[in-house]
Amino acid sequence: MFKIGITGGIGSGKTSVCKVFGVLGIPVFSSDTAGREIMDIDTGIILKLNSIAGKNLYPGGTLDRAELARLIFNNPYMLEKVNSVVHPAVFSRFSEWEKKQHAPYVIMEAAIFFENGGSKKVNRVITVTAPVEERIARVMRRNNLTKEQVMERIRNQMSDADMAKQSDYVIDNSENTMIIPTVLNIHEDILKSANQFC
Ligand code: ATP
Repeated sequence: MFKIGITGGIGSGKTSVCKVFGVLGIPVFSSDTAGREIMDIDTGIILKLNSIAGKNLYPGGTLDRAELARLIFNNPYMLEKVNSVVHPAVFSRFSEWEKKQHAPYVIMEAAIFFENGGSKKVNRVITVTAPVEERIARVMRRNNLTKEQVMERIRNQMSDADMAKQSDYVIDNSENTMIIPTVLNIHEDILKSANQFC
């Protein structure tokens, strides 16, 4: 199966772009959703997370997400440890999932792609970008966060420019840009590559 990765910083519009590909009939795998499910139900992962945290992150049987967030926030060492447990499980779930899809190509959506070797597991990478002020405003609105809280998250991610440099396609999702024509062009281009790949 020909595989596409879609990435971008917080609030860039990855999910919105993926919805357009979805309308074109392309199956989309959300790494975020898969990661959440894995942390909720995979007993092996649950044990490893508790061991990394040095405490029970599942009081009452469900993951205390606020406690996990506190643990990894501004702590690159902890974040790396948690990612090293969750990311391989997400990739193996993606591999299982993609084998069951019937489409010219599939998409994996992930906020982190270059840092964890994800870009090497797909055939092409698309980065979604938007001006940082717009991203801040979107996430403040959506998640009810302060400007400083959003900026903190942005500072902890790779920059748009660095992601774009390593990508095959870049989609500018600023508010005054039409993404549908861009997605259609990229879709046509990917179809050609996917056909040659078969
Ligand atoms: P995250 O990584 O934070 O989950 P994302 O990159 O997947 O974000 P989306 O969830 O697609 O981004 O978009 C973030 C917010 O911005 C959503 O509330 C969405 O409705 C809004 N949004 C996305 N694109 C645009 C746009 N072009 N104009 C205005 N609002 C937008």
